[in-house]
Amino acid sequence: MSLSDVVIVGSGVMGAATAYWLTHAQPGLRVTLVESDTRYEKASSSLSASSIRQQFTCPVNIRLSQFGIGFLRQAEQHLGLPGQPVALGLQEPGYLYLAQPAQVAGMQTAHQIQRQAGADVALLGPEALRQRYPWLNVEDVALGSLGLSGEGWFDGPALHQAFLKKAMAQGAQRLHDRVVGLDHTASQVTGVRLASGTTLGCGQVVNAAGPWAAAVAAMAGVQLPVEAARRTVFVLSCPEPLPQCPLLIDPHGWWLRPEGRYLISGAEPAHTEPGLPLEPDWREWNDAQWAALAHRIPALAALRVERAWAGYYEMNTFDHNAVIGPHPDLHNLFFINGFSGHGMQHAAGAGLALAEWMLQGKSHTIAVDELGFERLVRQQPLHELQVIG
Ligand SMILES: Cc1cc2nc3c(=O)[nH]c(=O)nc-3n(C[C@H](O)[C@H](O)[C@H](O)COP(=O)(O)OP(=O)(O)OC[C@H]3O[C@@H](n4cnc5c(N)ncnc54)[C@H](O)[C@@H]3O)c2cc1C
Repeated sequence: MSLSDVVIVGSGVMGAATAYWLTHAQPGLRVTLVESDTRYEKASSSLSASSIRQQFTCPVNIRLSQFGIGFLRQAEQHLGLPGQPVALGLQEPGYLYLAQPAQVAGMQTAHQIQRQAGADVALLGPEALRQRYPWLNVEDVALGSLGLSGEGWFDGPALHQAFLKKAMAQGAQRLHDRVVGLDHTASQVTGVRLASGTTLGCGQVVNAAGPWAAAVAAMAGVQLPVEAARRTVFVLSCPEPLPQCPLLIDPHGWWLRPEGRYLISGAEPAHTEPGLPLEPDWREWNDAQWAALAHRIPALAALRVERAWAGYYEMNTFDHNAVIGPHPDLHNLFFINGFSGHGMQHAAGAGLALAEWMLQGKSHTIAVDELGFERLVRQQPLHELQVIG
């Protein structure tokens, strides 16, 4: 049996960020990442829309985003290696949520929460929106909520790779193998069994298995309400430029943002079930969706669909929020799961919080206690209302 201080199951952005912070805080710590798909073909971290917003309704999510944007702005200082600059292409044109009259009260409540948490957001009426975005149709819009700073998008796969490389430069090791079992007693995990036949002995184990986290938890007899929820992203070209285009959240449930010279867009599927094959669902691209986009942005009447891809949200069906921290009974089993489609932006903060929890018994830099596993046991959900698609 080979021995590690920490075994991390999965080396997507969550596993990689955790390994980075652990080895940063404690050089010499033996951290082993076990990864079954070292090309990350199905990992959410490769298939993400990689955007960041401050506009959440749970203050803990705003705190994680505030940390996240600061980290992204200084990614080179954190993650740079000699001769390997970190280029994340961070852009900050904001998120723009649009509300119809029935949604105004909810938007105002969310605005108060966000302002109290220190988010740089503003509410804009239709005339202000028209002036700022002349290409946007606001005839049925009563109010918009715009992030003035700290919101936008970046190269998520590049962030993932930078975490991974830096963690490995700091001493973490990555094993290409699949975790198939967790040996455990009533109070702790004692070994991590691999498909190759090896068993890893370890002090602590982290479940960073993304959309597959429930299967890993089940290996220790733990029920984790995380499902692989397929989402399709469509790549569009628009014949006209859309100056200052933010990440737009339409009241009809779809989102859109620029990506280089294209636009990308997606929506919550009408019908879904866990673990569907990772193929784009072209039924989502229909005349009604096209009409909805062209209604909001008339220039999109002449759009072209260039291609599409599909990825899994690691959806926490309990309350759409992350689970970060130890299991209440299995004290050396830690979770960093269930980000429900907003994990790329929270990886830096979540990885730091978990590393502090593991090394010091508590997360000091960012208060994330309410995201702990206990709320699942107590059946007390912490609902995040602003979940996109
Ligand atoms: C279409 C789409 C759009 C998104 N848009 C955004 C966005 O705009 N902003 C944002 O912040 N987030 C977004 N997300 C969410 C974000 O990408 C995820 O929250 C994040 O990537 C999750 O990272 P992870 O490391 O938990 O999971 P993953 O990247 O999936 O990594 C998990 C890894 O675990 C490995 N693994 C699983 N089981 C085992 C096992 N038994 N043994 C060994 N290895 C195992 C897998 O192979 C995988 O590589 C989006 C996601 C999708 C799919």
